[in-house]
Amino acid sequence: MAYAVPPLPYAYDALEPHIDEATMRLHHDKHHQAYVDNANKALEGTEWADRDVVEVLRNLGSLPADKQGPVRNNAGGHYNHSLFWGWMAPGGGGEPAGALRQALDSTFGSFADFKAALKAAGLGRFGSGWAWLVHDGSGLAIVSTANQDSPVSDGKTPLLGVDVWEHAYYLKYQNRRPDYIDGWFNTISWDAVAAGFDKVG
Ligand code: MN
Repeated sequence: MAYAVPPLPYAYDALEPHIDEATMRLHHDKHHQAYVDNANKALEGTEWADRDVVEVLRNLGSLPADKQGPVRNNAGGHYNHSLFWGWMAPGGGGEPAGALRQALDSTFGSFADFKAALKAAGLGRFGSGWAWLVHDGSGLAIVSTANQDSPVSDGKTPLLGVDVWEHAYYLKYQNRRPDYIDGWFNTISWDAVAAGFDKVG
């Protein structure tokens, strides 16, 4: 089945004031839709067309050579954004608890240190890309990727990610990426992040 943009699991204005309604409408309805359309176009007629997006992204090197770039960008964009919507929720933010919190504390020193490291990864990404909390097979780590590259293509499991493309924040925050990331922290559904962590932990 061809890919489709998943419905946003909350209202477009549900993440106000941290993420504004206009940005959510453009980001979800236009940007994500474009990744889906272009991924479907690139995969159409290949044996990969009906495969799970994670399987596709884990095997980019096995795709026809002329498809690898478009699929990396657009299937990556589809998958990354599908995760991104689910990691945010109205009334989000605060701090995680339980096993996830313990793992963050033991890996990064403290929750504040974790936040600082993820923010630094987002600010350090020159141009467009993402900053991620991943499980790399042995434990938690923070990485950043360019463009729509996804950690799954490197064998890592994304547990939380922040989109630092300008389209994610420019309407509200203009050039102030640090303020956007600070605002985005107030949207995180730690329950959703913990659910992903519980699967790999
Ligand atoms: Mn985006």
